Amino acid sequence: MTAAILALQGAFVEHAAMLDRLGVAHFEIRQLRDLERPFDGLILPGGESTVMGKLLRDLGLLEPLRARIAAGLPVFGTCAGLILLARTVEGGEPCFGTMDIAVKRNAYGRQLGSFYTEAQCKGLGTIPMTFIRAPYIAAVGPAAETLAVVGGKIVAARQGNQLVTAFHPELNEDLAVHRSFLEIMQAWSRSRQAQETV
Ligand code: GLN
Repeated sequence: MTAAILALQGAFVEHAAMLDRLGVAHFEIRQLRDLERPFDGLILPGGESTVMGKLLRDLGLLEPLRARIAAGLPVFGTCAGLILLARTVEGGEPCFGTMDIAVKRNAYGRQLGSFYTEAQCKGLGTIPMTFIRAPYIAAVGPAAETLAVVGGKIVAARQGNQLVTAFHPELNEDLAVHRSFLEIMQAWSRSRQAQETV
């Protein structure tokens, strides 16, 4: 099982450390050439979604990655990564736009956007959640499922193989969210192998 981490900007090193703890091989995507290596899942880290979106376009990474996500490649977006996947972005431009959610950027205001809490995430129990200038999900379309709600706002969702959190699980010790992404990667990899052997 190998994960690719988008490493153009933001908190990608922290995701690598989580994958190391789970024993998952990983490498960084910085340029088009990096897509030649096989991988079973993609992590879009937190950072600044406008900067990442521009770099994705300038480097020619946007369309090839969008095509792979649309074809079912498992993808895990945290914070800015969530914004990159959202179909509708209030206060910004859609980037991949592959996930049926509407997101509000810097949604809590500058002061309130950064906080720590612990809350239920569907299937994972109560987990730590660190928010940094966080977005929230203003609406989830019929294709997507709400996984966590904090203060009446949706902060985690899933649509098929796309998993997003408005918080940063990579900044806490708890591996639960990364482990659940690993399970999505494993299931996808198994289903592809099954198709190849038919
Ligand atoms: N506010 C950032 C954005 O809009 C996201 C913050 C983060 O990823 N920690 O891209």
